[in-house]
Amino acid sequence: MTAGTRRIAVVGGGIAGLATAHALAQQGIDVVLFERDHRLGGKILTTPFAGHAGIDEGPDAFLARLPWGTGLAQAVGLGSELVSPSAGKAAVWWDQLHDIPQGLLLGMPTDVMALAKSKLIPWAGKLRAATEPFRRRTNLEPDSLGGFVRARFGNEVHVRLVDPLVGSIYAADTDHFSLAAVPQIADLAGKARSILMAGRTMPAPSANAGPVFYAPQGGMGDLAMRTAEAAQGAGAELRCGVGISELASDGSAWRVNGELFDGVALACPAAASATLLESMLPDAARTLASIPTADVAMVTLAIPAADWPAHLTALSGYLVPKPVQRLVTAVSFGSQKWSHWASASSVILRISLGRDGLPVLHLGDDQLLAAAVDEVGRHLGLSLAPSAHRITRWSGAFPQYRPHHAKRVADLEAALPAGLALAGASYHGIGVPACINSAGKAAARLAQ
Ligand SMILES: Cc1cc2nc3c(=O)[nH]c(=O)nc-3n(C[C@H](O)[C@H](O)[C@H](O)COP(=O)(O)OP(=O)(O)OC[C@H]3O[C@@H](n4cnc5c(N)ncnc54)[C@H](O)[C@@H]3O)c2cc1C
Repeated sequence: MTAGTRRIAVVGGGIAGLATAHALAQQGIDVVLFERDHRLGGKILTTPFAGHAGIDEGPDAFLARLPWGTGLAQAVGLGSELVSPSAGKAAVWWDQLHDIPQGLLLGMPTDVMALAKSKLIPWAGKLRAATEPFRRRTNLEPDSLGGFVRARFGNEVHVRLVDPLVGSIYAADTDHFSLAAVPQIADLAGKARSILMAGRTMPAPSANAGPVFYAPQGGMGDLAMRTAEAAQGAGAELRCGVGISELASDGSAWRVNGELFDGVALACPAAASATLLESMLPDAARTLASIPTADVAMVTLAIPAADWPAHLTALSGYLVPKPVQRLVTAVSFGSQKWSHWASASSVILRISLGRDGLPVLHLGDDQLLAAAVDEVGRHLGLSLAPSAHRITRWSGAFPQYRPHHAKRVADLEAALPAGLALAGASYHGIGVPACINSAGKAAARLAQ
């Protein structure tokens, strides 16, 4: 379109859109980012709560093992402000709190002796899991995480360990979630017939391995805000309160709400991209529209510290397996997980309600609050009387990667015209680092 500098539109001001705008602007490309809401950050939102300057309403950390979260934090000047969760064990609630056994890979046992000691799995389940090395190689073609784990270790390990541990990360029902979308398990499953046998040769985690998670001291909102500032500093224009409703191309230029660009990054959820591409690329739009999402509600409570029993102070939180779930799926003891959230007056709990197959957003705020207080009180044997509460509704919180998601996305991307790129949680990973990585790839495609 332009003879000189390229001009790119970015649709969506979540972390994927912000990171795309940042990467493009740094290369001297003219960028305009459009965000429908009146604030930037998308699912990343940190706000004051119960006397604290910033308590996250969405993600509260990113994986340190993957380079892209840490890389962006460093690039936008947050490197020295990254903190890690205080050491603290998580538990699984099944009639009572059970420590999560040692030697698990995302819930899958790699050490049968550690599993044998756990009271979470009944004896029949332990015996079934112990037969794993003698089982034939599992066919990976169905690409179901739940199917794979059930075939290797039996239903008890799946239902009481893997489904709560992995399912709670993505609000997923792992029976309907792609195995390939969990690379730590999929890679091992592809290489080794037996997970337990492979576990014996896996190096023990090093004491110097470094933190598993990082977050900016001021909350994840700082990552979004600093990325926005850095993008603006490099010349990007960020327009909030502008939802894109028109996307068209004449083969050389792209029209976005009537403005002309050389290329477009769609960094909004897949359903929004589907609507924009409906008339121009109907096949792509159908694939995008077929990616489902799960809604969740996050109830944050401040519990008077005097009411909080000492025996819970070493825990970072707990997970609730499906057969014993009502609405609560996971509880993070936020002020024990993050030492800078701790105060003498209250304990902060972040309670997740709802998941794929368990809708909650039709409930009123009073019902969500009552469910959180009653269920967590019942789990912990406490009568909870919060001194403050906050309810956050996340519609379309987590894309659900159904079996063969990766193949559908690869076909979709291969068919996209030049000048159009996708970024964000709907495609190559749901966590913040994966979204940032997808942004880097979208920017590289559009900068060509
Ligand atoms: C409760 C919760 C907890 C989580 N916890 C973690 C965690 O601890 N660690 C982790 O790594 N990940 C976590 N995640 C996942 C992670 O936060 C998200 O996957 C990620 O932030 C999504 O970023 P995104 O940019 O792809 O999408 P979004 O953040 O959804 O941003 C997309 C943006 O596009 C905008 N938009 C939509 N349509 C249009 C349009 N037509 N025009 C203009 N703008 C539009 C939306 O308003 C939105 O701001 C969590 C998610 C939730 C909901």
